[in-house]
Amino acid sequence: MEEKIEQLLNEFPDKIKNAKTLKDCDMLFLELYGKKGHLTLLTREFRNLDKNLLQRIRPKFLSVKNLEIDLNKRKEEIREEGYRKLESEKLDLEEIASPASPDRNDGRRKGHLHPTTIFMQEIVELFKKLGFQQYDAPQIDTDYNNFEVLNIPPEHPARDLWDTLYINSKFEIRNSKLLLRTHTSNSQIHIMREFKPPIRMMVLGRCFRYENLDPRHEHTFDQFELVYIDKGLSMANLQFLSEYFLKHMFGQEIKVRLQPGYYPFTEPSAKILGECIFCKGSGCKICGGVGWLELAGAGMIHPKVLENGGVDPNIYSGIAWGVGPARMAMLKWGIEDIREFLKGDLKFLQKF
Ligand SMILES: [Zn+2]
Repeated sequence: MEEKIEQLLNEFPDKIKNAKTLKDCDMLFLELYGKKGHLTLLTREFRNLDKNLLQRIRPKFLSVKNLEIDLNKRKEEIREEGYRKLESEKLDLEEIASPASPDRNDGRRKGHLHPTTIFMQEIVELFKKLGFQQYDAPQIDTDYNNFEVLNIPPEHPARDLWDTLYINSKFEIRNSKLLLRTHTSNSQIHIMREFKPPIRMMVLGRCFRYENLDPRHEHTFDQFELVYIDKGLSMANLQFLSEYFLKHMFGQEIKVRLQPGYYPFTEPSAKILGECIFCKGSGCKICGGVGWLELAGAGMIHPKVLENGGVDPNIYSGIAWGVGPARMAMLKWGIEDIREFLKGDLKFLQKF
């Protein structure tokens, strides 16, 4: 018995000192104090021992028992070492991607613009050449500017075309609720209030809808819209703008046609169809077998809307012309799911 205790006192202080991890410490604890640990087994033998012997080995036994204190100290040290190590490690948020790209000689990967941004810049450059200026309209706007002024009164069935996100706030402007704009067409009224015709403006920006998300619908998306107001504009100008855009995007050979459409703020309204770029008009799965794809929407601004903006519809006419940049990019680059654009997945983004 005495020898056994001596042996433990010789072995364990070193074992504890050399423990490298918290797990090592736990294993040592079990070796001593566990169900079949040395100390547990020793205690069981005590009742068979002579009282004098017990008296004699007591101090040494207590020393072994106190090894628990050393063990706890060692655990504390290991934790401290861990914290110090964490503090000394620098977290480099600047660069997380690997392998390094060869196009930078400092070994860091070179970033690039988001695919929709690249696409939108291309559209802006294209219409700049025709004298259009960029205009920024608010993304949070009033129900009045987003709907009413565009010929969509409250409770009108046409409102069902837009699943709208209203802002839960008591704050109203001129008794009109606030909402996240459902389209860039809210810009029409801002533009007409701010400028006198002739007007050539283009608006590009985020729009929001309460959508059921699927590969073709996203709650947050970009729209591009032209607001063109001048004397003597007609559907012929609208056809020209459509061809100008689609020929640039998909090549000179693309055929473009207009089909009657419906928007409450334009009259007449048109869907702009391009000959399917996948099957060249013979009919395929993507175009639903018809050989044409709906690529943009447009129309002559409704006289009532012009009037609401303080423009005399007897003198001027206007064209509103819009396109979804994400939808264009999907067609051009063969992207199947619109949700890819906002996911932030590097695997997707690095393809561009
Ligand atoms: Zn097709």
